[in-house]
Amino acid sequence: MSRYDLDRDEIAELLADLPRYRAVQLWEGLYRGLADPTELRVLPQALRERLSSTPAFAPALSVEHELVADAGTTLKWLLALADGNTIEAVLMHDPRHSTACVSSQAGCAMACTFCATGDAGFVRQLSTGEIVEQVVLAARAARHAGRRLDHVVFMGMGEPLANFARVWRAIERIIDDLGIAARHVTVSTVGVIPGIRRLAESPRQVNLAVSLHAANDALRDRLVPLNRRYPLHELLATCADYVGATHRRISFEWALIDGVNDTDADADELALVAHEVRAHVNLIPLNPTPGGTAHGLTGSPPARVRAFQGRLGERAVNATVRRTRGRSIDAACGQLAAVRRDGPRVPPGAGSTASGRPDRPVRGAKAGDAPTGPGTDG
Ligand code: SAH
Repeated sequence: MSRYDLDRDEIAELLADLPRYRAVQLWEGLYRGLADPTELRVLPQALRERLSSTPAFAPALSVEHELVADAGTTLKWLLALADGNTIEAVLMHDPRHSTACVSSQAGCAMACTFCATGDAGFVRQLSTGEIVEQVVLAARAARHAGRRLDHVVFMGMGEPLANFARVWRAIERIIDDLGIAARHVTVSTVGVIPGIRRLAESPRQVNLAVSLHAANDALRDRLVPLNRRYPLHELLATCADYVGATHRRISFEWALIDGVNDTDADADELALVAHEVRAHVNLIPLNPTPGGTAHGLTGSPPARVRAFQGRLGERAVNATVRRTRGRSIDAACGQLAAVRRDGPRVPPGAGSTASGRPDRPVRGAKAGDAPTGPGTDG
C-alpha cells in the first residue's frame, strides 16, 4: 500500500476531522509538489507528524540502490516494496526530454527468451500507488537535476496489460494529477490481445508499443512464448482494429538478434506486417542478459542494424534505431531483473561517482525464480 494508492475521497476520509482544505493541500503537495508530507510546510506541524505515523500515508517504495550511467543522464533505482520484493525503475535524460521507464509488475510471467525479467519469473502485481510512486520518484529526481519529467514508458519490469486495471488507474493519475501529456505515455505490450482491446476503448490518447521481434509464428513462438496463445494473425488483426478505432499509430519494437531476426528476409517480413497496420518500427540491438546469452542470443552488429533499417526504409517503413542506454548498469531494455543482492546494502546516491561512472551492476542470487501466479489480471 502506498500513499499514492489513495484517491481524493480516501484522503478526505482519513482527514475527516479536519477542514476539507487540508485534504486538498495534501493532495496538491503529493502530486504537484512531489513532496513527502513531512516536507509540506503549509500543513501544521501536528498534522505532518500524524501523517508520518499513519500507515496509509507511508511511501511504498524505498530506494535500495541507485546507479548512474551515460555521464549522469541515466539513473536506475532498485526499489524495495513493503513486502521485501524488489522492482526497478529508470530515468533517462535527453537534451530535450526526461523519460521515466517504470515497472508494472514485480517480475514477469511472459518468459521472453531474451529478457532478464522474464528469466526471473512472476512475483506479483504492483498496485496503482506502487506504479505512480515510481513516476513521482523519477519526477523528483528530474526536478533535482533542473529538468521536468515529461515522458513515461511502461517498459520496465512486467507486462502492463496483464495488470490492466491497476496500470490504467496509474495512467489516469499520471496524466490528470502529475500533468504528463497522454501522448507522452507509452504502454508496451508483448501482445496481450484482451488488453489491447481494452486500451482501444479508452478515451485517453496514450501510445501503444507492441513488442513484435518476429513476424512469423515459428520464430515468435520461440522468442515470445505468449505468441502460442495469441498468434500473429490475431495480434495483427487486433492491432489493425486498434488503429481503426483510435486513429493512433502503433509502434513495433524489434530487438535485433544476430542471425535470428536480422536478415534481409526478416526485414521484408516485418515490412509487410508493418504496412498492414501502418506501424512505426523501433529497432534496438539486443542487450545482453544471462538468459539470452545462455540461449546463444546476441545483439546484431552495427552494420547489420543499419542494413536492416535501410531495407525497411526501401520498403517505405519508418524505422528508428534506439540508442542503448544504461547498459553498463543493467538498466537497458530487458535488463531489469531486480535480483536480490547478497552482501551489504548501498545507500541511495552511493552507487555512483560524480563523473557518472557506474558502480558494479546489480546482480546476484536470483530472487523469486518460482512464478507464484499466472501474472494476469483477475
Ligand atoms: N512486457 C512489456 C514491457 C516490458 S519490456 C513488453 O514486452 O513490451 C520493454 C521492451 O524491452 C520490450 O519491447 C521488450 O521486448 C524489450 N526487451 C526485453 N529484453 C530485451 C533485451 N535483452 N534487449 C533489448 N530489448 C529487450
